[in-house]
Amino acid sequence: MQYRNYGKMGFKVSAFGMGCMRLPRIFVGDHSEVDREKAWEMIRYAADNGVNYFDTAYGYHNKTSEEVLGEALEGGLREKVKIVTKQPFGTMTDLKTGGGKNVLDNARRNLENTLKKLRTSYIDVYLIHNIGKSTWEDTKKEKIIEEYEKFRAEGLIRGIGYSYHGRYPTFKEVLDFYDWDMCQIQQNLIDVEREATEQAIRDAGKKGTALVIMEPLRGGNLAVPPAPIQGIYDEYKEKRSGVEWAFRHVLNYPEVSTILSGVTTLEQLKDNIEIFSKPEAVPGCLNDEEKKIIARVRDKYNSLKSIPCTGCEYCLPCPKGVNIPGVFGKYNEGIMFGTFEPARRSYMFQARSGQDASLCVECRACEKKCPQHIEIARQLKVTHEKLKGWVE
Ligand code: SF4
Ligand code: SF4
Repeated sequence: MQYRNYGKMGFKVSAFGMGCMRLPRIFVGDHSEVDREKAWEMIRYAADNGVNYFDTAYGYHNKTSEEVLGEALEGGLREKVKIVTKQPFGTMTDLKTGGGKNVLDNARRNLENTLKKLRTSYIDVYLIHNIGKSTWEDTKKEKIIEEYEKFRAEGLIRGIGYSYHGRYPTFKEVLDFYDWDMCQIQQNLIDVEREATEQAIRDAGKKGTALVIMEPLRGGNLAVPPAPIQGIYDEYKEKRSGVEWAFRHVLNYPEVSTILSGVTTLEQLKDNIEIFSKPEAVPGCLNDEEKKIIARVRDKYNSLKSIPCTGCEYCLPCPKGVNIPGVFGKYNEGIMFGTFEPARRSYMFQARSGQDASLCVECRACEKKCPQHIEIARQLKVTHEKLKGWVE
């Protein structure tokens, strides 16, 4: 296993971090839950084979991921690894969930629950989960960082960080606001400039903040390249899987401390550990020819999109709350990656948050604003039929 420095915290972490958001599942009646036996086996295998970084969150797997991780690490493994978990602002404000009187009471109550579930007395790095433009304002207003500092002073947590989904300007604002121990952003070979961007990677490195990458395989979509993409990879003299190409893209950045991958099977885990243990799995691992191949792969993926939505968001807001570019993005992912399974799963989350295409009342107000002249209402019907119905 290759190891890298973790910002200013003074320890090294495995370049591969095991994400505990896609643990194996079994169906029980009409729903699924974590297959604990299999998940424990995978977590213990990882810890026994050089992985010392485990990422989870309060909400993963219907709030059971932390518990499963804690069970797996009990009995000697916990002290050998770093546990990183997250509390979302929405949970801090949910009075029913926390049972407290206000946001800060809830934050503390939720952390106490997390510690119990993880069967540990401290969290190595505690994150504010999924900061975005609006939650950032609330995070400052409610003085969440100050509360996290109290947790740290009490020895309940050791580092303070945040995970981020959104555009670069807010990322930069958050990064510069505080002396964070770490930040976590999305980066993969086709979304180089989509969310926080490569500039965010450079900024975090300059500041000495540990940088953790999530979604290097874009929810697993880059693992099995469709034929036009595989054709490009096959032109290269050295044969590599789509998974290895995708990991190498992020391993190449010297600023990156660890790369999270949410594994579902022991075979995937073993394959990932093998890739991250190669001598060449280090910063600067891509030569110029390899960078050109990745750029061609990116262009080819983008050319496979079937709805010409650029994600400009001019059509928003929809009066019914439909996340029009988000929905089209899921549909395009299904076409681009040759499988609709991951897209259908994430569409279920859009539906849960009241943003899916079923809410469209066909008023067509959005269509007048779309520079791509997309028949939005009609296309939303098509996408909904294709993406609906995922159960877990
Ligand atoms: S047509 Fe549908 S998506 Fe567009 S604004 Fe009206 S309700 Fe929203
Ligand atoms: S305005 Fe058109 S191109 Fe832009 S996000 Fe909306 S649907 Fe996509």
